Amino acid sequence: MEKENGEGMYTLQHEDFTMKALKRLEFEHDLRKAVEQDEFELFYQPQYDIQNNKLVGVEALIRWFHPKHGMVSPAEFIPLAEETGLIVPIGEWVLRTACLQNKAWQTAGYEKLSVSVNLSLRQFQKHSLIGDIVKILKETGLDPSYLELEITESMAMDNVERVINKLNELKDLGIQISMDDFGTGYSSLQYLRKLPLHKLKIDQSFIRGINEDHDNAAIVTTIIAMANHLRMEVVAEGVETIQDLQFLLQQNCQHAQGYYFSKPLPAGQFERILLKKEPL
Ligand code: C2E
Ligand code: MG
Ligand code: MG
Ligand code: MG
Repeated sequence: MEKENGEGMYTLQHEDFTMKALKRLEFEHDLRKAVEQDEFELFYQPQYDIQNNKLVGVEALIRWFHPKHGMVSPAEFIPLAEETGLIVPIGEWVLRTACLQNKAWQTAGYEKLSVSVNLSLRQFQKHSLIGDIVKILKETGLDPSYLELEITESMAMDNVERVINKLNELKDLGIQISMDDFGTGYSSLQYLRKLPLHKLKIDQSFIRGINEDHDNAAIVTTIIAMANHLRMEVVAEGVETIQDLQFLLQQNCQHAQGYYFSKPLPAGQFERILLKKEPL
């Protein structure tokens, strides 16, 4: 390597590598501190039953407010949290906070909604997952039927029996399970059919430009039809325009979520959405 690239190149690559390693170390250090110092907040995005023009759920999405860099996207720090194991305390905080918030809204007298929480791979694989969730539900007083957990295809690719057992235990508690980013993974339909899922969330990449892109339109139509036949609910993610919405309504899609309705909002601002009776 050294010979081929010459000395200059080697040094450059070496420095580049050192910089990356340092940046990563700093990032990891900051993330660790963020856990200790509560630098996270949950934002909430509404989910609608579009056929009945009704607010039915809310997805909790984490935000990190870094003291120097401002808001950091979960797409950036969740992978690092996953690698370092920090996802365990972070994931627990997310679950507890989402359940607590949902219970508080119910106690305040708002119409009851289900709160969806994204699980990470490590969290899902943890042996104490079920026990941790039961404890959080007990502590927060939230009825399990108002909690929904989102998993992804890659998380379900583990040992089939183990995944099915775990999902069944959650289902028996009364918790809803949805498959997030559906259509982007590698799992076969044969496999997916065996999983006790309540809901498929069609990945936003298929919804994008659904009116101009015939391939996407065909894929979305097929997923909706399949979900209806298998008696699973379906949610379209990333609905941004009235045209997207109209297409989904015509295809008998039941649920939708996206910027067309609202971006994810801090809890205080989400209350304005809770007050609106007619969302569309
Ligand atoms: P996701 O679970 O698929 O969440 C949907 C993402 O799409 C969110 O990004 C949301 O803000 C964004 N989104 C919603 N509607 C629209 C739309 O109409 N257009 C566009 N362009 N985007 C839309 P966000 O909040 O940045 O989260 C990204 C991903 O990070 C999530 O994807 C999820 O996989 C992960 N994530 C977020 N919060 C958590 C968490 O608490 N725990 C774990 N494990 N993962 C999380
Ligand atoms: Mg999600
Ligand atoms: Mg996701
Ligand atoms: Mg998604």
